[in-house]
Order: sequence, then structure tokens, then C-alpha cells
Amino acid sequence: MKEYTYRICAALTTLAVAGSLAAVPVSAVQAAPLTSTHQLQVQQRIPVAKAMAVKQTTANLNLRSAASTKGKILVVIPKNTKVTVSTERSGWSQVAYAGKTGWVSSTYLRNAPASVKVGGLGKATAALKLRKSTDTKSAVLESVPKAGIFRILKISKGYSQITRRGRTGWVQSSYLVPLAEKPGREIFIDEKYTTNRAGLTDRYWTSVSGADLHESVNGKKRINDIPKNSVAYRDLKKEWTAGSVKGWVFVRTQGMSGWMKSSQLKRKSTAPTRPPGYSKKTVLAQRNGAVPEKMLVAIAWDPEKTLIAGPALNDLNRLNVAFKKKFGKNLEIDLAYRTRSTQDAYWIELGQFIAAKPGTSNHGWGTAVDFPETYNYSFRGKYFKWLKANSKNYNWTHRKILEEGSPYAEAWHFEYSGR
Ligand SMILES: [Zn+2]
Repeated sequence: MKEYTYRICAALTTLAVAGSLAAVPVSAVQAAPLTSTHQLQVQQRIPVAKAMAVKQTTANLNLRSAASTKGKILVVIPKNTKVTVSTERSGWSQVAYAGKTGWVSSTYLRNAPASVKVGGLGKATAALKLRKSTDTKSAVLESVPKAGIFRILKISKGYSQITRRGRTGWVQSSYLVPLAEKPGREIFIDEKYTTNRAGLTDRYWTSVSGADLHESVNGKKRINDIPKNSVAYRDLKKEWTAGSVKGWVFVRTQGMSGWMKSSQLKRKSTAPTRPPGYSKKTVLAQRNGAVPEKMLVAIAWDPEKTLIAGPALNDLNRLNVAFKKKFGKNLEIDLAYRTRSTQDAYWIELGQFIAAKPGTSNHGWGTAVDFPETYNYSFRGKYFKWLKANSKNYNWTHRKILEEGSPYAEAWHFEYSGR
């Protein structure tokens, strides 16, 4: 869908060395004892009949031809494999694995956790890799955090299909435990980061400095923090899907989706809409992505009251007056100021080919604006063409490196070149 396209401005990124963002590896087969000396014991003749029970191996385990360590090893059953015990006698369990029936030491079996089901929820019991297919050798699409909760889409060959942040792939089912659905659960909303509001209209602004955006309710997974007076759109549909939680709202803000405490939101922006009297030089002397709130101002004619660096406001207002004279409407602003933590989150989420290297973007000083990625603002669009030709008269520039054909091509990113 159009409204879910990536729209993370990468302007003026010095292409970073490809850093590895690989997830923590999770080994399916870990080192573990294959035998144990206390398996050597006298067998009782009388078998203890037990109901068929599903167990899970706690180590790589020898399947033997007899209920004794003298039994021939038929095959090694990997750790965390589920097996069905048909009979148990004196510390040995009869199971079938890989087409062979034999005996394993009951010491290395435990009650298997219940399995996830298609359509149900599964919680990751370890950090996992989301893979392209049901194979430990297939490409890793995403990392999956321990304790992440996911809807199970399909199950195949010991793998469960889930979606994590917009990417659908497979994780090993043995690392998922089923979870009952109830409101208040930590649910990860699987959404691609996007700057677009995707049609959302229920508008709020952050009421506190550094309002925390979380990946789940209860604040255990923090995405980033959002400066005071930043617009946030509530997504009630997502909230209902996940299970509404009192005191929390699911919002889209700064190009991301996540949970925020309702106490950190208000209905109006209270940011000043007049330049505060700082020079651009003063703003640029601040740490990128950590510009003090007093140096940020809201764009008065922008319905979202987007925050930009104070010194850039007058010229943006002038540019808007000229634009409005030409097209009969105000400019549309998609994003402007971005905190460092937001840049970091983009970087982790999208990687260096889409996101700007954290700490390098002019958005981190509030001296750049992005227009929406709609046709009129694209390279072929009439708004872009007009802006490209005229914005420099108002000290806003579209850099050469961003022109069509460049690997960094971005029609929507303009920078403040005034004082
Ligand atoms: Zn930009």
C-alpha cells in the first residue's frame, strides 16, 4: 500500500561502512552431555506403564536400541526436540525419532511446553532470527527479541511464520510458547516505520520532553523518545487489535509506530510559533538530535505544527507565502526535527541504505524539512519543480547530491541555507 512506503529521509548521509546489525545467534543444537554415567543401572523387569506424554529433550540425546547405556546408539536427538514417550521404565523412555524407535534417558526429558497454533499468539523464549524460509541456513530478515509476542500465521517443518516489523518470515517453533490473548498483554505491533500518517486523523501532541515511544505496552521495549510538542496520531484500530491497555495509546509519530502513555499526550501544541532569537550558528553548535526545546519552534500554518529550528522559521514562512501565492495552498511538511534516538531507531530498523547515519542529518538540528512523498512533490511534480527553482530565494535549498539519478536521490528534502 502506498501509505506504508518507506519515507525515511537519508539526505546527506555519508555512506557508512556496512555495519553488521545481525541478531544474536541462536544455536538450535548446543553443546550438552550425550551420555551420563548414572544411566548405568540395573533394569527393572516390570515396565511402568504411562500414558503417552509429549516431552522435550534438554540435551543432545542418544536414542538407543535398548533401555540401557549398552544399547546401540541409533541416532542423536537434538536438544529441544519434542518427542512422544510411549513407555517409560526405570529411567528410560521409549520414543520414536527420525523413523527409529528406541530408548532415551528420562533424565534429559522434561515436559514439553504446549505448542503454538496457527492464528494464536506465540511468545519468544529466546532472542531469535526471523528467517526467509524454514531452514537454519536461509537468509535472516530480522532479529526477534526475547519475550516478543507474535501472531502465528503458519506452521511448517518445526517453524512458525510470523511478521516482525513488516517482514514476514519463520522462526523455530520450539522457541515459541503459546499465549492466551487478553488485553494488557505486551503485543508487538508489526509495522514498517513510515513517516506517513496512513490516513490517521486522531491528532495529539506530546506534552512532555522526551515522551517515550515503546514497542510494547508497559514500557519494556523502548523505541525512542519524542520531543515535546511533536505530533502523534492515535491508531485506534491497531490498539484494538493488540488489546487496549488503560493509560496507553498506540500512536504513529516521527515516522514510527508504537505505544505511548496517554499522560504524555495532549490535544494542542504549545510550541512557540515565533523565532526565539537564536542564530543558526547557535543551533548548529548543539549536539545533533539534542537541540534544546527552546530553540525549536512550530510552523504556524502547518496543521501538524511541525518543529523546526527557530532561525529557519522566517524564511520558511516567506517560502510558504510565495508557494501559496502560486498554488493557492500551504506547503505540506512531513518531517523536520528529529532527535538522536529517533535517528538511531531508523538506523537500526532500516539500515544505512535508507536511513541517515545517526548524528549526521540536518534534521538533527531542525534545519531541514521533508515534504511528503506525493506525486506533486516528486521529481516530476509541479511543486518540486517550483521549489527547486524558487526555494533558494528564501534560503532553502535542494542539494545537488539529492537530484534525480543520484544514489542519494530525494526530491522531498530541503535544507535551510540562511543564517
Ligand atoms: Zn530529509
